[in-house]
Amino acid sequence: MEHKHDPLQPCCSFSQLDAANERVLPSLQNLVESFFFRFYRVNLWRDCEFWKDGMFCTNRQCAVEETVEADLPDALKSGNLGGVDLSMSSKDVGLGFFSDCNIPEKDWCILDNESSGDGIYVDLIKNPERFTGYSGESAARVWRAIYSENCFDITGSKSQEPVCAEKRVFYRIISGLHASISLHICNNWLDRATGEWGPNLACFQQRIAVNPQYIQNIYLDYVVLARAIGKISPYLEKYRFCAEDGEHEEVGRLVKDVVAMASDCPSTFDEKGLFADGDKQLIRDIKDRFRNVSRIMDCVSCEKCRMWGKLQMTGLGTALKILFSYGDNPTEYRFTRTEIVALFNTLHRYSSSIESIKRFRRMEREELEKL
Ligand code: FAD
Repeated sequence: MEHKHDPLQPCCSFSQLDAANERVLPSLQNLVESFFFRFYRVNLWRDCEFWKDGMFCTNRQCAVEETVEADLPDALKSGNLGGVDLSMSSKDVGLGFFSDCNIPEKDWCILDNESSGDGIYVDLIKNPERFTGYSGESAARVWRAIYSENCFDITGSKSQEPVCAEKRVFYRIISGLHASISLHICNNWLDRATGEWGPNLACFQQRIAVNPQYIQNIYLDYVVLARAIGKISPYLEKYRFCAEDGEHEEVGRLVKDVVAMASDCPSTFDEKGLFADGDKQLIRDIKDRFRNVSRIMDCVSCEKCRMWGKLQMTGLGTALKILFSYGDNPTEYRFTRTEIVALFNTLHRYSSSIESIKRFRRMEREELEKL
């Protein structure tokens, strides 16, 4: 089962990816601030299916500020959800702006349904991913559950079998998510003594730089997301991005910038080398485990961490759905607005993680120069 060519090796160098990221980050930043992309619908109150004695985070930083109906753009108000006008071109490729994508066998994660009454809208810009103080046994239990119950034994210590590329990729995608979350914590750290927010170099060194693989896994997630966005570019060209009057064109232009970056470097990640021998059991097994991790997110007791965890699992799950559940025919693609919003916001998470790695490296050099 082991592939001769390792599909996990990016064909672009890290410095090429850094340069591509530097070019695209301003557009991506503007994109996630647009009305279409900043309001995310999420159900934060699903029961944790894995344990019942959840501990609740009472830290103020853990709270999520809900966007009330009156503050939502008109297109997202409940009365308008069913009546959003679809452009002809969107209809041509079978898009539903708010359609409920109910295709479970294609989905890689458990989706919150935007058109159902469950859940709330959250303005992501007003609820940034950053240090919340969520830690200790509650957070450790979630990471343990994710790694020990849902990751394959990639070291091969439990069995003598070599671990196939697909299982290694699954582990590395989760590890990249963990590293990116840690980076956002370290980059937006609250100094409790001064009450100021800012980057914490020691945090970066202890949690991320300590293992170079963690950083490589951030880049892997980045190219998986970019590759997926590149693949659905014909679909995105016809998508009607509109939450506010007049927004569609500007958002469409920004999406084009991101797609151009994603398509610029087409062989960053060779997904065709994965699941190439059509092992359906392996695909099902990995998909089930990925869905399980998305369910575990409901057990994160810090609300804001849960919200960003769910969003990023949805973004990564959407990327895997694009790469492995669909072929190249855009007329077959079905995505909910939630998936599209999560996909681009998740790419933005990794894009800013890559940017902050550079900043931390600079801080390290400055520290050394002082010696
Ligand atoms: P942890 O990050 O808890 O790591 C536990 C162990 O996992 C480490 O000791 C190490 O052995 C291993 N490990 C660490 N990184 C990796 C990696 N990249 N790959 C593989 N193994 C690794 N806290 C916040 O302040 N803000 C947030 O937004 C936030 N979001 C979270 C979202 C989720 C889904 C979860 C589960 C937790 C979140 N937390 C958040 C908590 C945060 O991730 C840490 O658990 C917490 O800060 C304690 O960190 P730690 O240094 O003890 O190690």
